[in-house]
Amino acid sequence: MKIIKAEKVTFEYIRRDEEGNVEGINRAVDNVSLDVKEGDFISILGANGSGKSTFAKHLNSILLPTEGTVWVDGMDTKDEEKINKIRQTAGMVFQNPDNQIIGQVVDEDVAFGPENMGIPTEEIKERVEEALKTVGMYEFIKRSPNSLSGGQKQRVSIAGVLAMHPKCIVLDEPTAMLDPTGRKEVIRALRALNEVEGITIILITHYMEETVYSDKIFVMHKGSIAMEGTPREVFSRVDELKEYKLEVPQITLLAHTLRQRGLRIPECVLTVKELTDAIKNC
Ligand code: ADP
Ligand code: MG
Repeated sequence: MKIIKAEKVTFEYIRRDEEGNVEGINRAVDNVSLDVKEGDFISILGANGSGKSTFAKHLNSILLPTEGTVWVDGMDTKDEEKINKIRQTAGMVFQNPDNQIIGQVVDEDVAFGPENMGIPTEEIKERVEEALKTVGMYEFIKRSPNSLSGGQKQRVSIAGVLAMHPKCIVLDEPTAMLDPTGRKEVIRALRALNEVEGITIILITHYMEETVYSDKIFVMHKGSIAMEGTPREVFSRVDELKEYKLEVPQITLLAHTLRQRGLRIPECVLTVKELTDAIKNC
């Protein structure tokens, strides 16, 4: 079953002058087709302005395609009657945790989504506790979100989406404003959600390191999908990535350099463990 299916999706931002005349058209997404299987961890990479955020906003009906169709769990995102169900199926997490936190206390904040869905109070309490445990934030349940670090706030935002019991979570650069510790916390939480809870993850990022555990990576360039494949397939194409203003993960680059210096190291190393194992076997 495909949880997300995009078919020939194009999106154009139309610029108008004060009188409403069209001044210009910016094609931000250009004929994108992609499928995401339920339970997969997908990453979308791409330089600034390549269309990642515009595409992501199509996955829960924030934007509708100018051309083409997006289906979320079989529902056409243009179907107005399904909009609540679509947003509940594919939850979104954005870059800035401060803009996403509404409640004065962590539990109130996480309860916001299920409350809007009309879930009974007793069940909301259970969902909030379960969601906070899943992201490792349960001990902060009665804290003020303002007192938390960036990584903790972002995990609370993720819990808020989780409490709506989505099948899929789309995260648009959730770690861009975090320090390295916060980034690791968030990525670890996402991997657990995917591996333990089976939730489909669509992670948009420009940190290559965050994508090495993905089932599949899509690279966007000028609104189109320029590359797709497993991390090993994508990161072995170093020169092509450079064309799209992207680099391979640092560990992959280090391994590549060591290999050039004559060490017997495999072609595309993705993790520190793979590299240390390879060096031990040299
Ligand atoms: P990314 O998330 O990969 O940085 P975006 O989807 O934000 O890319 O942007 C893709 C293109 O669309 C860029 O050229 C950007 O300038 C343009 N764009 C983004 N948002 C708007 C908007 N609200 N109005 C007009 N153009 C926009
Ligand atoms: Mg963006």
